[in-house]
Amino acid sequence: MRIPTRRVLADDVYEQIRALIMSDGMAPGARVNIDELARRLDVSPTPVREALARLESEELVSRLPLRGYSVTDLLNRKQVADLYALRLLLEPPSAALAALNMTPESAQQIEDELATCPAAPADNAYDDYKNLTAHDQRLHELILRIAGNDAVLQSFIKTHCHLHLFRLNFQQPFGVQTITEHRAIVDALIAGDPEAASAAMTAHLEIARARLLDRM
Ligand SMILES: [Zn+2]
Repeated sequence: MRIPTRRVLADDVYEQIRALIMSDGMAPGARVNIDELARRLDVSPTPVREALARLESEELVSRLPLRGYSVTDLLNRKQVADLYALRLLLEPPSAALAALNMTPESAQQIEDELATCPAAPADNAYDDYKNLTAHDQRLHELILRIAGNDAVLQSFIKTHCHLHLFRLNFQQPFGVQTITEHRAIVDALIAGDPEAASAAMTAHLEIARARLLDRM
């Protein structure tokens, strides 16, 4: 039997706590009891503390002086609207730039990314949903990378928008439309058509925003 290294254990504990938060196994706003969580995961408190520090940098938990950690709240309507407003400022012009910057290599990269998620998950099992969200995040970041403005890319990454949207969307199917909308964006990029790429990105973000706000 392989004895897990300290790093593997720390990563594993981090993933388990993250999954609990993302799938509402730890409710938004709940206080985090480190000893209880360590017992639940059958580990010592040390890797739990390490995991919480990482999760704090992703804004999934927050720490208050003398009160310890609590799970962050879900985004409210205004925060969701603000987040999509920011994305609409950043991503459609970036898609237009990316369309102008496309090379055979970047076209291949983007097709390879689409191929990682050829179909929407049939049900809303946590792992399927996590994979779809991870693919969505990689695709949007790849388009920003091809556009080539690092300040825009870093601003996007700092919003942690996929994490927050994942928590709101979990168990609410959206995969099929997402895959279709991504195809339209990628077709415009590969055609080297900046207007069509910008329009497809705008449509994708506006539909996603409406889908989410309708349910809140
Ligand atoms: Zn998307």
